[in-house]
Amino acid sequence: MRGLATVPTYVVMQPTTLCNLDCAYCYLPFRAVDRRMPVPVAEAVAASVNPWARAGRFSVVWHGGEPLAAGREHLAALIAPFGPEVEHHVQTNATLIDDDWCRFFAEHRVRVSVSVDGPRERNGDRVGRGGRPAYDRIVRGVEALRRHGLPFSALAVVGRPEPGLATELYDYFLDLGPEVLGVNIEETEGVNTRDNSHDPAAVTAFWAELVAAWRRDPRIHLREVEWSLRYAAAVLDGTADDLLPRRLDPIPTVGHDGSVTVLSPELAGFTDPRYGDFSSGNVLVTSLAEILAGAEGTPWVGEFLTGVEACRTSCPYFGFCGGGHAANRYFELGRFDGTETEHCRNSKIRLLEGVLEHARDHRSPAA
Ligand code: SF4
Repeated sequence: MRGLATVPTYVVMQPTTLCNLDCAYCYLPFRAVDRRMPVPVAEAVAASVNPWARAGRFSVVWHGGEPLAAGREHLAALIAPFGPEVEHHVQTNATLIDDDWCRFFAEHRVRVSVSVDGPRERNGDRVGRGGRPAYDRIVRGVEALRRHGLPFSALAVVGRPEPGLATELYDYFLDLGPEVLGVNIEETEGVNTRDNSHDPAAVTAFWAELVAAWRRDPRIHLREVEWSLRYAAAVLDGTADDLLPRRLDPIPTVGHDGSVTVLSPELAGFTDPRYGDFSSGNVLVTSLAEILAGAEGTPWVGEFLTGVEACRTSCPYFGFCGGGHAANRYFELGRFDGTETEHCRNSKIRLLEGVLEHARDHRSPAA
């Protein structure tokens, strides 16, 4: 795996910077302001995306802010330029989902991923402006999805890994009913400067416990655990080198104003004296395809690729991880050519260690 691919597998779009919540761990700098994406930005993106989608599976992920805060009419106008081959997804806090939104999702074939951190008492960081807890509104939104028979995914943020939490979370999500669950250990990035360093043994034990909970009832696709198991199986059958893509997916994020930031949505909207605004171009001036063809020339991206090569030569976990996480490097290390971060320790190194710990603890006696 070397350099950036010029054709991504998905594009992240920011229909508005606004979020109706004010979660304590949010990284977004302008979430109190409604800066909406004009339709010509979506039209410009669609001009590149439609041919890619005709050639193979391709997704547009509507991410915010809170994408539903843009309103149904505006979101429909932004979706309209994309061809029928494009898969649409929203990443939402679910609080605005009602019957009308469910009909909208069905009509536009939008797949929904909701952010919920587990049972009520685990959602203390999820609050509205003024500090009112958001949990009841989140659950009402999920209930609307279920009422309409719409499948959904879920994303949970874990603030502090501790014994019992993984089982509690997995059991909660078995009841809630997502098809896919992603679990993120809270990250220090953007305007969230909270410390994300944890006792290594506690993080490893968290992941091992999550694998054990999942194996008892593997009804949900558990994203992190399935990645790890796929890697472990590839190591065992000698195909691990084939798992990483030949070139890194650039994962372009198109901001509300048409600016394109590759590799990390979390960098969009930030500026730095050394790196400027991190953008590689604007779709209102240059096509997305051309921007991506030249993205390796963006100064910070070159520095990041140097960091990936440093990971390749120094880290035994590179074959699993691929050395990604540009925003985590920047927000934790202040630059892009470093290697280990607390994020990669929490979410790659200790994840794999946790899966292996579970496997060691459950070896059959004959093994
Ligand atoms: S785990 Fe960390 S140090 Fe290792 S390859 Fe990934 S980002 Fe680099």
